[in-house]
Amino acid sequence: MVVVGGGVTGLTAAYRIHTARPEWRISLLEADARLGGNIQTLRTGGCVIDGGPDSFVKAKPAAHRLALELGLESQLISTEPSARRVLFAHAGRLTPMPEGMALGIPTRALPMLRSPLLSWRGKAQLLMEPFRPARRARGEESIHDFLSRRLGEEAASRLAAPLLGGIYAGDPKALSLAATFPQLSELERQHGSLVLGSLAQRASMMRRAEGAPPGRLRSLSNLVRASRMAPHSPFVSFRDGMSTLVYSLADRLPTGAVRRGAAVRRLTAEGARWRVAHAGGELTADAVVLACPARAAAEALAEPGVSSLLMGIDYLSTATVFFSFDRSEVAHPLDSTGFIAPEGEGELLAATFVDSKWAGRAPSGQVLIRGFLGGARGGERLASRSDAELGRVVLGELRRLMGPLGEPRGSWVFRFAGKNPQPHLGHSERVAAVRRLSPPGVWLAGAAYDGVGIPDCVAQAERAARELLAYLG
Ligand SMILES: Cc1cc2nc3c(=O)[nH]c(=O)nc-3n(C[C@H](O)[C@H](O)[C@H](O)COP(=O)(O)OP(=O)(O)OC[C@H]3O[C@@H](n4cnc5c(N)ncnc54)[C@H](O)[C@@H]3O)c2cc1C
Repeated sequence: MVVVGGGVTGLTAAYRIHTARPEWRISLLEADARLGGNIQTLRTGGCVIDGGPDSFVKAKPAAHRLALELGLESQLISTEPSARRVLFAHAGRLTPMPEGMALGIPTRALPMLRSPLLSWRGKAQLLMEPFRPARRARGEESIHDFLSRRLGEEAASRLAAPLLGGIYAGDPKALSLAATFPQLSELERQHGSLVLGSLAQRASMMRRAEGAPPGRLRSLSNLVRASRMAPHSPFVSFRDGMSTLVYSLADRLPTGAVRRGAAVRRLTAEGARWRVAHAGGELTADAVVLACPARAAAEALAEPGVSSLLMGIDYLSTATVFFSFDRSEVAHPLDSTGFIAPEGEGELLAATFVDSKWAGRAPSGQVLIRGFLGGARGGERLASRSDAELGRVVLGELRRLMGPLGEPRGSWVFRFAGKNPQPHLGHSERVAAVRRLSPPGVWLAGAAYDGVGIPDCVAQAERAARELLAYLG
């Protein structure tokens, strides 16, 4: 059995297969010298720095369930309650996101009306959302087209699309809603309105928490109470950083199963088996899980139909730049998880106030700030810029928006060149075709296909493992 790629997807698939059939010989082939793929935690000078992902959502249960199963419950942490709000860069200043926003959808009228983030015209358009008819036309919509149709152009481009598109670092006008946030079109379909649908969901959560039967979710008093629910954080992380999950999965694989520096080059069918040529030699396997980026899978398969579909999945490049500062020199109160900078508000996509968001990420008296840049906003230029230049850009942007920060005590740059898959319009059909045309005995799983979040990757790995186990009997 061969699993290609030692990111969270490949590690989870290998763990699931090994746990179900410990007697099978399993090899996990990773191109890099390090396991984890996008997940990488650096511990230095008392700082815990997650260069890539820093958390995962609990609402999609696969990753949380896996963490519990691996015995990592005591290491799970939630975002700090004192810093659960998010700021938005607007007209060169940082302004709190209006209270009551859920997945980019505003659910409280007053905070929205008071917010300087939208003009009166934008607010008026937004207030009309519950009264706009649901879409009847079939056919796919982009994130931007859907949000501007429902919320109005201004609320879509200044608030909701930067939040949602930011997760992909992509262009909301090109990203497919169906392949990224299908739950939003479902809200429109079920409730005729995103605002009413979000409120009904909150009311149902509230009543569940109170142990009450569902009752009339759409009663006015329920909706008003739901809109005032204290914000809870949907995100969790690990005290020692996200690599905790990587190490824990890798530790459960048999000795010798993991081979690093083993970039897979070609899969060749030999009867019902596969010959797997990699940088360190060759293996034969009854089945293969390709949990590497789509381009590497395309090259390994070298099958004209599937490979050209795989090559058509676009990827963008991003980078994260971290700075530590003396707390006493930072003018900003840092009383939030960080900020989002919509298009037109500079080069940064977002920033995280790391030690405000998560306890224990910087030594006492210091702060750790992460800038995120690239993607659809200049990702193609990142490769030609040195780490020092990226540092200067991010520091300049942070100072412009946050005020004085003092001189950094340390800085760290992480690059994700071509590592951010973009589920563009047509993505779901493309992935369905890839799965239909994939040769027997080969499974494709990971961020390129059915969602980029860690829970999506874990769920895909588990599905691939289940199907492979059923296939081999
Ligand atoms: C900056 C950033 C921040 C993010 N933040 C979050 C977050 O907070 N929460 C969240 O849920 N998600 C986040 N994501 C998304 C998430 O990190 C990824 O979608 C997920 O980690 C992908 O896992 P994967 O195993 O599918 O792919 P990868 O992590 O890309 O792993 C693929 C592996 O395959 C290896 N490989 C490539 N080619 C070959 C080959 N030919 N042979 C063998 N091995 C090969 C690679 O070296 C790599 O190790 C973030 C992503 C980025 C870039």
